[in-house]
Formats: sequence, structure tokens, C-alpha cells
Amino acid sequence: MSERRLSTVLLKRFSRVAWTALAGYALLVVAVFAVAAEAVLRRSLEHSADVVQSLLGAYSDSAGGPGSVMPTTLADQLLGMGAQVVITRTTRNAGGMQQVYFLSPDMPAQRLEGLPASASPDDVRQVLLAAIAQRARWRYRALHRSAGPFDIYIVGSRQPYLVALAGLTVVAALLLPVVALSARGGARRAVADALGPLALVTTATSAIGPAELGRRIASPTGQAEITELAESINRMLERVDRAHRALESFTADASHELRTPLTHLRAQVQWALGEGRAATDVAEALVAIERELDRTTKMVDELLLIARGENQQLGLARAPFELTALVVEVKEIAEAMAMGRDLSIRNVASDPVWAWGDVDRTRHVLLNLASNAVRYTAHGSVTFAGRYNGTMAGVSVEDTGPGIAREHIERIFDRFYRIDQSRSRAFGGAGLGLAIARLLAELQGGTIAVESSPGQGSTFTLWLPRAEGPAQGGGSVPASP
Ligand code: ADP
Repeated sequence: MSERRLSTVLLKRFSRVAWTALAGYALLVVAVFAVAAEAVLRRSLEHSADVVQSLLGAYSDSAGGPGSVMPTTLADQLLGMGAQVVITRTTRNAGGMQQVYFLSPDMPAQRLEGLPASASPDDVRQVLLAAIAQRARWRYRALHRSAGPFDIYIVGSRQPYLVALAGLTVVAALLLPVVALSARGGARRAVADALGPLALVTTATSAIGPAELGRRIASPTGQAEITELAESINRMLERVDRAHRALESFTADASHELRTPLTHLRAQVQWALGEGRAATDVAEALVAIERELDRTTKMVDELLLIARGENQQLGLARAPFELTALVVEVKEIAEAMAMGRDLSIRNVASDPVWAWGDVDRTRHVLLNLASNAVRYTAHGSVTFAGRYNGTMAGVSVEDTGPGIAREHIERIFDRFYRIDQSRSRAFGGAGLGLAIARLLAELQGGTIAVESSPGQGSTFTLWLPRAEGPAQGGGSVPASP
């Protein structure tokens, strides 16, 4: 389907509505005028009939009973009325024959001829009305009223109001395009005014490239909907800008972090290549190089893990598993790491705690937390404890290490963030452990909470969605969270 400009669509719709409304209005005016004119005509005919009837009454009264009609007397009075009046009178002659006299203002009384002698007054009316209708057609309106032996027929012309009606129709038909066109002109200006701010937003948005992500679209625009659009574009720009800056700083940090070991490696290789190095010195240098290579490889692996995690490419399993059983495994590794140091590793006994997620990724998270606790705690203890909290299952790793100051608490989850660069590096950390731990926890629908008081120690707690453990006595299909 071909795209059309909004202004064209709006204008077309408006024109259609304007034409229909105006034509409808004109038709309505014409129809109301016709109905009103017809009502007025009818009233005037009724009025004429009333007058004629009352004149006939007066005549009968004065004559004291039905006599012969004096058409000239009547005619003079009837002439004063606008409508055409015809009166018939049905009598019986001396021989008992029915006779119908016909009189009108401009004619002397005459007998109505051509009627069979047996014709009833009703037949006479029918014949007369049919004859009037046949001649008058739509140009006249006829009214019939019976008054004793008399029948009054009044015919009024529609001509005067038909002329006015025709005039009105012609004026309406001529004015309709003029009014519709001027309404269209007004609508065009209104549509242009309404769409103006939209064009400004479009221009401002298309001027924003990767280098101008800090720029914002001017708002308010003067139109609420377009202001909302501009603001939502601004909010999107804010998010894109933040993500872009995070990516830039991540790239810068990653390059820096990779350059450092490469510089070390180059220095060690150059030293080893120096003249007169003893074989043992070269072997020592190679061992150091291997260590540096291991550390760098680990960092690259961690970076790849983060990249794949953020792109939802890790394919995490979603199954129930016993978190407390995993803790036993991790505790053993932590004990091996703490070997020979004044550090006790404990596990608070609890009922089995079941979580929903990926066992291997969860092991990775717990190992990161445990290795931090062991590495940063000079002496004292590292304690694991499993527990439930509502719909979540958690494991806390509590240490008696240096603790973390308030201003570092949120930042320690940032990539490459280390509170003490040199100390952390000495422990082999690249500052990616907690970033990975939080990412893996979140990918499983969980979180990592941290509480710490400097000088006293820290507690990191991994929370994952809770799963129901196997039922007592063997059933083993835990419910989905
Ligand atoms: P690293 O590889 O440097 O340990 P992490 O992301 O695991 O990176 O941790 C980030 C920083 O948080 C560490 O450099 C350290 O300063 C601090 N940190 C992490 N765990 C602890 C802890 N248990 N006690 C004190 N400081 C910690």
C-alpha cells in the first residue's frame, strides 16, 4: 500500500465531512421550508373554509331554512378571499329529483350536469374531487368540507412558495461549493498548523546521529500529543545515550585492561630475549608469561561470557535444583582456597533449599562470591547459609573481611570496578566477578543483595526463584514458580 501524507488524508476526510454536512444542512433547510409552506397553505385553506362555512350559516339563518343560493351575494364576499372557492348545493326538486347546484365567486349559479339522476351527494363529491385533482396536479392543493346540503371546495396554489423554494434550492446549490471550498481552505491552514510541530520533531530527530546523542528535542511543542511524542523520543535518546556511553567506557576499559597484560608480556619476552640470560631465568620468565597469559585468557573468557549473557545467548537451563547441595560443593572449593590461612569456612545447617534456574551458572555465581570472600578476608570466617524468603530462595555468603564503604556498594557490580586496583589485581581480579555474578543471577530471574559495614565484613546474598522440593517419600516433580 502506498504511503500518503497525513495532511492529505486529513484534508480529504475533512472535505468529505464538510461536503456531506453542508449538503445535508441545505437539504434539511429546503425540506423544512417546504413542510412549513405546505402547513401555511393548509392553514389558509382551512381558514377560507371556515369563513365560507360561517357565511353559509349566516345565509341559511337569515333565509330561515334552505332556500335557493344567491351566488352573487356570496360571490362578493368570497372574492375577498385569496383562494379559489367552489360551493355546491344538493337539493331535490318538486318531483323529488336530486339537483346539484354549483356556484363560484366569478360565475352565476349553475346546475352541475352530466351526473346520473341517482348520483348520491358522495358520488358528486368523488367526481368533483377527482376532476380537481386531475387538473390541479401538484401545483394546487384542494380542500373539501361538507356543511349540511353544501359542499365547500377550496383550491390554493402552491406556485408562490414553489418559486421561493426553487430560489432557495438554487442559492443553496450555488453557495454549497463556495462554502465547502472556503471551509477546505480553513481546514488546510488548521492541518498545516497542527502538523507543524510534528515536522519540527521529525527534523530535530533526523539531525541526531551517534555523535549528537546528548542533544534533545525541544519541548513543549505547543501540542500535547506531539509534546508527548517528543518527550518519549527524548527518554529513548536518554536510554540510548546512557547505553552508548556505557559501551564506550566498557570498550575503553576493556582495551586498557587488555593492554596492561600485553605490556607485561612484551616486557617479559624482551627480557628473556636479552643476551646472556641463563636457562633457569628464561624458564622462570616463561612461567610468569604463562601466568599472565592464563589471567588474560580468563579475562577474555569473562568478557565473552558477559557479551553473550547480555545478548541472551547463554541458553540457561530452567529447572529446579537443590541450592543447599550446591553450597556444600562450593564450600569445599572455598576451603581448598583458604588452605593454610587463618580462615574458617562454615555452612549453617538448614533444611534443603530449592531454587529454580541453571545449576552450572548458579555454581559460577556462588564461586565468584565465595572466592571474593576468601580473597578479601584476611582472617576470621566465611559463612554460607541457605533460606527462603517468600517466593525466593537464597544463599548468603558472609565474611569478616574489610567490608565495603557506602559509596562503593553499588559500583562494585560495574564491570572493571575495583575498590583498590592494585590489591585486587594482586589477588588476580579483573573487576568482572561481581558483574558476571549479577548478570547470571538476573538472567535466572534473581538478584544479588549486599550488606556491608566497613571494618566488620560483608554479606552477599544470591536470590533465585523458589522451587518446591521433591515431596516426602519419593514424588519428585517440583512445581514451576
Ligand atoms: P575482582 O575480580 O576485583 O574481585 P569483583 O567484581 O569480584 O572483582 O569485585 C569488585 C570489587 O568489589 C573488588 O575489587 C573488591 O574491591 C570489592 N569486593 C568484592 N567482594 C568483596 C568482599 N567480600 N569484601 C570486600 N570487598 C569486596
